[in-house]
Amino acid sequence: MVDTLGNAGDTGLTPGTVVLIGIPFDEYSSFLRGPAKAPPIIRQTLHNGSSSLCAENGIDLNRHPLFQDLGDLTLPCGEDAIEAIQRAVGRLSAQRARILVLGGDHSVTFPVVQALTGTIDELTILQLDAHPDLYESYDGSPFSHACPFARIMETGRVKRLIQVGIRGLNNEQRRQIHKYGVTCIEMKACGSKIPIDLEGPVYISLDMDVLDPAFAPGVSHHEPGGMSTRSVLHLIQSIEQPIVGADIVEYNPDRDVGGMTAAVAAKFLKEIAAKMLDQRY
Ligand code: MN
Ligand code: MN
Repeated sequence: MVDTLGNAGDTGLTPGTVVLIGIPFDEYSSFLRGPAKAPPIIRQTLHNGSSSLCAENGIDLNRHPLFQDLGDLTLPCGEDAIEAIQRAVGRLSAQRARILVLGGDHSVTFPVVQALTGTIDELTILQLDAHPDLYESYDGSPFSHACPFARIMETGRVKRLIQVGIRGLNNEQRRQIHKYGVTCIEMKACGSKIPIDLEGPVYISLDMDVLDPAFAPGVSHHEPGGMSTRSVLHLIQSIEQPIVGADIVEYNPDRDVGGMTAAVAAKFLKEIAAKMLDQRY
């Protein structure tokens, strides 16, 4: 079976359960492969005993009744994978699960958001990334990891896209930001307080390269001058609107140094899940 999570995707989940799923897919990476290897390594780091499963808000993921790890999707290749991801997430979303995805490259965000907007209206996406990922097509592919937010915005099913941490924009990217009415808060405008104003249900799309490579060397595209781990945590912890889904993408184990980036990804997993669990659903 192609888009299975064992049988877990079809068993009765308690509404509001935060489900962790790995999407080991990097076929649409433009520069280096590697992020497909990320989900098991992030999990292993989470459970290796070097730190507890307790987040900073006091919520412990260990045996939490509303936190469930459903493992990794088994996927076909190419566009069939995009469809399989959408189907699998759609089944979970129909059970009112809150989805936490471990990528994979950023191309996985389009099918995940497509699935969520099938049941959730007025979604605001908060994208933390060095890059806008808004190209119409890249290297001849509309599904490239450089394109997911163009695919999402052209559907018209998302209320708003807010990007934080972007740096090194070229003219084509600026035109795309304008075309799709994106709120782009460039890294150079991110002082100690980042001016975001969120409304309604929120989806967090966290590309690990939003961080400065000093904090997260394990990414395909090193873009110096990025955020610190702590400023990303501040941002996540400050969200008051309901978080209905999130992804952590673009961790590339082949580029990591001593598992440092895996530890940061595991920390983000813990803090995003605990933030969701702390919210009423
Ligand atoms: Mn990205
Ligand atoms: Mn990026």
